[in-house]
Amino acid sequence: MMSDERRCCVMCGPPAVSEHLFRKGAYAILRCRLCGLIFASPHPTHDELEQIYSESFFQVGEKFAGQAGSSGRLNAEHRVRRLLTTPGVIRGNWLDVGCATGDFMLAARPHVGHIAGVEMSMYAAEQTRAKGLQDVVVGDFLRASLGNDPVDIVTMWDVIEHVPDPLAFLRHAFQLLRNGGLIALSTGDIGSLVARVMGRFWHLMIPPRHLYFFSPVTIRNLLSQAGFEAVVVSKPGKRVPLDFALWKLASLVTPRAGSAALRLGALTHLGHLAPFVNLWDIMTIVARKRPLGMTPSPEDVSTHQYDSLVNRS
Ligand SMILES: [Zn+2]
Repeated sequence: MMSDERRCCVMCGPPAVSEHLFRKGAYAILRCRLCGLIFASPHPTHDELEQIYSESFFQVGEKFAGQAGSSGRLNAEHRVRRLLTTPGVIRGNWLDVGCATGDFMLAARPHVGHIAGVEMSMYAAEQTRAKGLQDVVVGDFLRASLGNDPVDIVTMWDVIEHVPDPLAFLRHAFQLLRNGGLIALSTGDIGSLVARVMGRFWHLMIPPRHLYFFSPVTIRNLLSQAGFEAVVVSKPGKRVPLDFALWKLASLVTPRAGSAALRLGALTHLGHLAPFVNLWDIMTIVARKRPLGMTPSPEDVSTHQYDSLVNRS
C-alpha cells in the first residue's frame, strides 16, 4: 500500500499548491507553484522503503563493488580531494550520511581525525564494516544515536533525493554540526539541459528510488531554510561503470530488461570499464552552517545569483 497522496511541498507546507507535470510509472511528478520544488507523489511507506533498499539495491553491476581502482573508490577519492581543498574545512570529525558500502569513508579515513557513517541498509552497513570501518550506525539518520561530539563536515552523497523529508535531514545535520561546519552533498539537477530534454525519461527520474528532483534554486532554498549559507554549486562529473549505465538504460524500458542488462554486464565484465562522464546534470553542493541566531541574508534566499554559482568549484 502506498502512503497518502503527497501533494504538499516539504518546504512550503499546506495548503497544497502543486501542479501536475507528468506521470512516471505509478507516480505523479508534481511541482510546487510557490517554490518550484519538484517531487514524486505518493511517497512509499516505511515497509516499501525497506524493500527498495534491500541487498538488490546495491547489486547494480560494479557501482558498489568497492575494490581498489573501482569507479566507486575513484569517485570517492575525488570527492575527498575536493573537500580537503575547500576553504574552512576542518579535518576533525566527519559524518557520512547514507554511507552505502563505505567507499567515501574509506577514502576519507587517512585524511581526517575520525569518520563515522549512518546507513539504513543492514546489508550495505555490513559491507562497510567488512572494509574495517566499524563506526557505522544502521538505521534512519533522524533517529540514529551518533554521540555528542560536534561534527565538522556532514556528507550526503546521492542521498537527499531518496529521503521522504529532505528538510528534516538537513535540519538534523545542522544540529549535529559545530558552528561554521560544512555540509557537502550531491544530487541531480532537474534544471539541466539533459533533464529538460529527456523529461520523464531522464536517467535520474526514477521514483520511488528518487522522490525529489532539485535544481540549483530549490536545493539552495532548502539549505537556506535548514540554516545553511554560502552555498556553492558545482558539477564535477564522475566515473560511471558501463554495466551500471547499461542497467539504467535498460531499466527505462522494463525491470526485466534491466535484469538482463546486469547479466550481460557480468558476462562481459563491462563494469570494469568506467569512463569519466559529465552530462552536467549532477550537482555537488557545499554549504556552511550559519551561526545560531543569525537570520538568512537576502542573497541566501534570492534566486538570480544561482546560475553564476554553477560550475564554480
Ligand atoms: Zn514549495
